[in-house]
Amino acid sequence: MKTIIEPFKIKMVEPIKMTTREQRNNIVLAAGHNPFLIRAEDVLIDLLTDSGTSSMSDRQWAELMMGDESYAGSRSYFKFEETIRDITGYEYIIPTHQGRAAERILFSITTKEGDIIPNNTHFDTTRANIEYNKALALDLVTAEGRDPETRLPFKGNIDIEAVGKLLEGTSLSRIPMGMMTVTNNASGGQPVSMANIRAMSELLHSKGIPFIFDACRFAENCYFIKTREPGYEDKSLKDIAREMFSYGDGCTMSAKKDAFANMGGFLALNNKEWADKAKTLLILTEGFSTYGGLAGRDLAAIAQGLKEILEEDYMQYRVRSTAYLGDNLERVGVPTFVPAGGHAIYIDAKRMLPHIPPKHLPGQALCVELYLEAGIRAVEIGSVMFGKTDAETGDFVPGQNELVRLALPRRVYTQSHMDYIIEALENLSKRKDEIRGMQFDYEAPILRHFTSTFSWV
Ligand SMILES: *Cc1c(COP(=O)(O)O)cnc(C)c1O
Repeated sequence: MKTIIEPFKIKMVEPIKMTTREQRNNIVLAAGHNPFLIRAEDVLIDLLTDSGTSSMSDRQWAELMMGDESYAGSRSYFKFEETIRDITGYEYIIPTHQGRAAERILFSITTKEGDIIPNNTHFDTTRANIEYNKALALDLVTAEGRDPETRLPFKGNIDIEAVGKLLEGTSLSRIPMGMMTVTNNASGGQPVSMANIRAMSELLHSKGIPFIFDACRFAENCYFIKTREPGYEDKSLKDIAREMFSYGDGCTMSAKKDAFANMGGFLALNNKEWADKAKTLLILTEGFSTYGGLAGRDLAAIAQGLKEILEEDYMQYRVRSTAYLGDNLERVGVPTFVPAGGHAIYIDAKRMLPHIPPKHLPGQALCVELYLEAGIRAVEIGSVMFGKTDAETGDFVPGQNELVRLALPRRVYTQSHMDYIIEALENLSKRKDEIRGMQFDYEAPILRHFTSTFSWV
């Protein structure tokens, strides 16, 4: 069969609300042309993020009912620990309320002022937590990985040569760890090859430096290895995951991504000294080491979700439906970051709207038009998010790219939703020359994308 179907049937539904264009006009105006300020109820299809927005399965809901809410040593914790140990092989499993809590604990106990932590591309919370400890978060993704138009299988790879140079030219006591984000969220959701992971591991370990994964989308990365890297086609996703984690010394994880949970995360480590320090800090700010700020039922649902994410039928559907959206956008003339990543399609607003200069925020304009056209919410990843106004000169400093991310929540939307999104963007593409740029009305001093407001130029 050529048709890839959603490998589930629907047992419970959540109605979504259609709005008229006139209603959407008013909604957008009231929200200051910022999709973050629109009420979710007024959104028909919400592609703002894949984080915490997944549908849980009947089995996960059953686990919620069976959650053990004991303060210490709960049965649900041991299920959680056993499942994560089984997949990662790591010894110490520390639950946290989100991925960023795992990051904060990890960097607080390992990282000091002046340190450097290389990664393919640091996600924004990872970078922020490293910088908070006055250390440098260094992005060393390969040059191809930065180019939206090159079609290569593993554009999430780190530049091994650049890591080598860093290790040669820096006192090793300033590099507490090396990292790898799988898949590389901040860089098109692109995967990393096993060969690249192995090379990074060998290089770091030859200098005695620990290797930590940012594992938020580890299962999607494993599926790309299975389907794109020779030698892995007959291996199970779990075996691939086990091999991948075996090259590292630990990981941080947001269960809001590849664990189908609405909240949660963990830090997994092999180093006992680090784990002991992490648990002390966990107890201080998150909770006792067998719940870490989560309810017992959450731990149980995460454990079940981690088993389901490694099912091949699911992952085939997941990666194929993301590619379906990407391929069809390309067919209707909407330029995207290629090839399609695992969890999102990134529209290249710079190429789609070449008449709008970066200082008139083409990505923001496209996000607002997409909402007006069809009630779809996306997020700008361009000059609004990553650009700035120079504090001294007042000059506009653009972001590296002008992208609009369509993130796909897991097991939430069906193929007809994808067809609707494609049609909306095709309509926009046909009248793209009429789309105007935007300017700031209110420019928030930090994290501008969340609270700034805009108007048409
Ligand atoms: C989401 C994410 C995080 C942070 O996780 P939260 O649960 O949102 O705190 C870290 N790294 C990557 C790659 C992510 O996608």
